[in-house]
Amino acid sequence: MKNKIPLHIQIVIGVILGSLAGFLFPQFLNFVKIFADLFLRLLKMLVIPLIFTSIVSGTISSRDASSVGKIGVKTFFYYIITSLLAILTGQFFVNVLKPGANANITPPQNLDIGHLASNFKYSDILLKIVPDNIVKAMAKGDVLPVIFFALLTGFFILKLKSKNRDFLTDFFESFYALMMKITEFVILLAPYGIFALLYKATATSGFAVFKTLLFYFLTVLAGLFVHFFITLPLLAYLITRKNPYDFMKKMLTPLLTAFSTSSSSATLPLTIQTIEKNVGVPNRVAGFVLPLGATINMDGTALYECVAVIYIAQCYGIHLTFSQQAIVVITSLLVSIGAAGIPMAGLVMMSIILKAVGLPIEGIGFIIAVDRFLDMFRTATNVFSDSTGTLIISYLEDKENCCKEL
Ligand code: ASP
Repeated sequence: MKNKIPLHIQIVIGVILGSLAGFLFPQFLNFVKIFADLFLRLLKMLVIPLIFTSIVSGTISSRDASSVGKIGVKTFFYYIITSLLAILTGQFFVNVLKPGANANITPPQNLDIGHLASNFKYSDILLKIVPDNIVKAMAKGDVLPVIFFALLTGFFILKLKSKNRDFLTDFFESFYALMMKITEFVILLAPYGIFALLYKATATSGFAVFKTLLFYFLTVLAGLFVHFFITLPLLAYLITRKNPYDFMKKMLTPLLTAFSTSSSSATLPLTIQTIEKNVGVPNRVAGFVLPLGATINMDGTALYECVAVIYIAQCYGIHLTFSQQAIVVITSLLVSIGAAGIPMAGLVMMSIILKAVGLPIEGIGFIIAVDRFLDMFRTATNVFSDSTGTLIISYLEDKENCCKEL
């Protein structure tokens, strides 16, 4: 019998049934966990070869370095502006709602947060871009150096003699087409994978933790909601005049995958595949803007960092001055750029902001219990911002032919 339920509906069903089943029947965790991990591994398996081939073939098809440069500048501005908008939205909500004002919660005892106090330095981000060993960077799944190497590869293929250039162009385009085909296959498994991932999430964490932290949780959600459903769609509409909610619907598969995996990086193959196929964005733009976005553009994470740090200060009864809040805003932006697209990366980076404004790192204990769940919402926001940016830049690059499927 042919399956008639559209894929995005199957995925929504997977989300609902998975969360319910995990909550009601947590005893099957060991069995269901295998499927959750298998789906995640399939996605991760694709990330590095897909980023590499998509950027190389994207760079080759833009034909010259200056057009890659132009896309790069637009991408950079979009990423900074939307991340700042997200942070300011979060700052507004946390200051107005004051979720930590009357908090009488104590950080969990014996909390091992020593490993969270990282030795992060901003200059490290710059150094991390250039790999000292590209094979090692690929093996470790470090995205930034792979992007850098892929850009160089694409750029210098364009400078080769025509015989070599044609051979390598064919090779990378075919390799990329192959990766997209495998991604298409993995997408078919998404409803089951997502069911298993959500089962695992609710079976292991339960909902009880929400009681004490509900107000904080809702404050972050309110900010994410405004950014996701109002700010980004408005921006997309003002620039492209396309219906942003149609666009959101077309991107449902990667959005729900981001929600269930809590990883922008692992979702990346699906994001690229869906935006090219369902929306009609050319690989030249998607192959460049999305991999970069999955690594450095994290609106949801930026918003959450800002809310969480101000909330922690409120819990301690510490009033943050205007200039301290400005430091929170700036460091939230930097930290969101530096955070990896993996689960809980935002929580790990929070120690940097706490240190910057002089709050105790133990404050992380106040929020840790609900972080697993917030991660799902902020990751979906991160991926939606990357996708909206790709739509906008694709439109600015070619207004006539942009996004034919939308
Ligand atoms: N999980 C997020 C992501 O992959 C990062 C974070 O922890 O905020 O986009």
